[in-house]
Amino acid sequence: MYKAYKFRIYPNDEQKIFINKTFGCSRYVYNYYLNKIKTEGYKNSYNNIKDYTSTLKYNSPFLQEIDSIVIRKSLFNLEAAFKKLFNKTGGYPKFKSKYNRNSYNTAAVNRIYKNKKYCNIELDLENKRVKLPKLKWVKIKGYRNLKKINGEIKNATISKEATGKYYVSLLFEIDKKIEKVDPQSIVGIDLGVKKILTLSDGTTYDNNKYILKYEKRIKRKQRELARKVKGSKNYYKCKKELAVLYNKLANSRKYYIHKITKDITCEYDIITCEKLKTNEMIINGKENKLSSKIQDATFSEILRQLSYKSKYKGKEFFQIDTYYPSSQICCRCNNQNKEYKVLTKREYQCIKCGQEIDRDLNASINIMFEGLKLYMESLIRC
Ligand SMILES: [Zn+2]
Repeated sequence: MYKAYKFRIYPNDEQKIFINKTFGCSRYVYNYYLNKIKTEGYKNSYNNIKDYTSTLKYNSPFLQEIDSIVIRKSLFNLEAAFKKLFNKTGGYPKFKSKYNRNSYNTAAVNRIYKNKKYCNIELDLENKRVKLPKLKWVKIKGYRNLKKINGEIKNATISKEATGKYYVSLLFEIDKKIEKVDPQSIVGIDLGVKKILTLSDGTTYDNNKYILKYEKRIKRKQRELARKVKGSKNYYKCKKELAVLYNKLANSRKYYIHKITKDITCEYDIITCEKLKTNEMIINGKENKLSSKIQDATFSEILRQLSYKSKYKGKEFFQIDTYYPSSQICCRCNNQNKEYKVLTKREYQCIKCGQEIDRDLNASINIMFEGLKLYMESLIRC
């Protein structure tokens, strides 16, 4: 199985120049072939790589200075973006701008020389440094208590945030034998607009005070930015401060989500969620489009973490169909009341058995039962 570790890196000035150059080259090639596709029609990455190695590389000598795997990875990313378009899971790929988050991806290459294995990417936790292609050793910070990772590095993503901080994310193939847990407990989870999570045991999670604090400060900063003269020195200063706040918000949200998903995957053996229903949330939620976007990102991150953490711990994770009417069914008598599809009442009142229960709790209990069904089905299949 795969596991990613993200470290903050501290490149020296020379390394910074090289990293920024690589961002530029990776972006240049991506945009070059996106433009080519726009004018000449779609070609897959294999064809683009062939074209690159025979022509573009020689016409643009600066491309030869950087790690060649980065270029290949960039073209695979372009192909992935078009696959998303063809599968109708994404829009038409856009040109990459240097004003957004900068990143490039490279793969680990192993060589054996005189019976000793060498890799172009190495992590040295003892001396707090990482070896990256063309950069050699770069200082790192993070994972203070981690002594050793039992696995092999597969690839590395080097990125620079708008705040000016550099990071590396290393993907490991972990050699860990996962023993399946014999399930003793089950939980259903409802994702909501009012409360982020409602568990079928009655536990609820909402944005914590740090997240709320940063959200407030971001709103204030946004208003401040709107008053500044666009392009002025103060404008850019304010913009950078805003980027720092966004980064802080993202970090505290991430930390919080990690804690929630850790707690849930420790406590329960079968974990059940719904799949994301993006459009409905935007219509139902009163919030503006931006905050729905953030909410969607939060939800997909929660689901992603629950999925890999339960796998890692040998537990079961199920996602039930989007069209399962979890909020319309009474969890006690199973009666379906279609009015709750549009009703925004916080309470679920059953017209058949008279039960009164919190709407999200009712939904999460239904989700739990659906998860139990899926688990039973998986036993039959085995
Ligand atoms: Zn009922």
